Amino acid sequence: MGMADGPAAVMVFTRDLRVRDNPALRAAASGPVVPLFVLDDDILSSRFARPNRVGFLVEALSDLDVSLRDRGGRLVVGRGRWVDEVLRAARAVGAATIHVADDMSAFARHRTDTLATDARSHGIEVLRHPGVTVVPPGEISPTAGACYQVFTPYHRAWLAAPWRSAVPAPRAVEVPPDASGIEIPARADLVAGAASPDVVPGGEAPARARLAAWARNGLARYGDRHDDLPGDATSRISPYLHFGCLSPLEVATRLQGREGADAFVRQLCWRDFYHQILAARPDAAREDFKDRGDTWHDDPDGLAAWKAGRTGYPIVDAGMRQLLREGFMHNRARMVVASFLTKDLMIDWRLGAAHFLDWLVDGDIANNQLNWQWTAGTGTDANPHRVFNPTRQGLRFDPQGDYVRRYVPELAGVEGKNVHDPDPEIRARVGYPVPIVDHHEAIEEFKALRSRS
Ligand code: FAD
Repeated sequence: MGMADGPAAVMVFTRDLRVRDNPALRAAASGPVVPLFVLDDDILSSRFARPNRVGFLVEALSDLDVSLRDRGGRLVVGRGRWVDEVLRAARAVGAATIHVADDMSAFARHRTDTLATDARSHGIEVLRHPGVTVVPPGEISPTAGACYQVFTPYHRAWLAAPWRSAVPAPRAVEVPPDASGIEIPARADLVAGAASPDVVPGGEAPARARLAAWARNGLARYGDRHDDLPGDATSRISPYLHFGCLSPLEVATRLQGREGADAFVRQLCWRDFYHQILAARPDAAREDFKDRGDTWHDDPDGLAAWKAGRTGYPIVDAGMRQLLREGFMHNRARMVVASFLTKDLMIDWRLGAAHFLDWLVDGDIANNQLNWQWTAGTGTDANPHRVFNPTRQGLRFDPQGDYVRRYVPELAGVEGKNVHDPDPEIRARVGYPVPIVDHHEAIEEFKALRSRS
């Protein structure tokens, strides 16, 4: 007889939508298992459910179903109140254990804690596994119970810490025949509105193809080229890491030691750094990590111009339009546009972060909110007066203007670096706005207000 004899376990996927290096799946699949994903009504009815991410999620679920079928199983999909649906699935097959990846946001923590309490009252145990970060939050800390607030010492400790070994995908996945679920719905059945035209496909298979191609062609020169805006030379694996189509630990361990890998793996460490801050300070998703006593401007017109990519600063507008077109924005552009919103327009970082979460496929509470706070000067950046001059950033990181011309079609006819500050006559002719704010005046005002705090 096969392994079907023991009681079945439930493995509930959250944002670990992969079969490789998935410790929760690996543990659960040593016997019969219900590989479950629950479409959580609390998320689907929230602002967090947006077409770009929901579309990606649906594709990632289909891809996961294929991987599980290749191993003799299938994905079981539920929909409703998450805790109720997971428990229902467990009780339906008489499961004694539920396996889940440990996650960091206040929402995820609360959801898993509630499940653990409710499950216990039915005699079912919830087992939490690593896999969302390389090093689990709290595993390294400067003093017991605290989180690192400065990146460099965290990076040092992170590199020196023992990392778990990546686990292979289970060879076979045996699903009890009575486990029942629904079909994976189409995006349009889950969320209203259109997705961006150029969003990457979701799933572990496209993730691995992307990573392999980039490791071959991009990794060696990552250190020199990661800030090259038109070169688009970064890995673009962030959506796959957000949904767990790739394991960050597997990526880091596979690439470590190769040419260019140090600079790249360091970026994965930033991801872990922000996740351990969020784990220790869940309120940092909403509240200033460091209160600077800011009074932000109430400027709906400025905010609308920024969102639409019509500020009159070509590099800012190119970034904002890349976001709308691709559900992605280059990291250098993210810093420039976030600085512009918070320091030139003096608009609250929370409004900018919310707009990013509306569109980014990689939109992630830890990475998004804490990078916004870093740029706004309320986060872990030790220099609250740091300012990016948008025109100079454009000239430096897009010296020929190709990035601007790619995303701001009105300016496609302006040659070379002139595209970073077109003449007023050209702007009028092509229908491109003049700057909505004078950078130098705005920054003087910002600095005067900040230094009062
Ligand atoms: P690569 O340069 O190839 O880096 C590899 C991976 O390292 C990334 O996929 C990402 O997981 C991680 N990484 C790189 N830079 C950072 C960073 N600064 N902080 C944390 N992790 C990093 N990243 C998100 O994943 N989700 C977000 O919602 C998000 N919002 C951001 C908002 C602002 C204002 C800023 C300045 C940055 C934000 N970032 C966010 C970080 C960074 O911009 C993206 O991770 C990166 O651009 C993704 O592209 P890539 O995969 O090609 O990155």
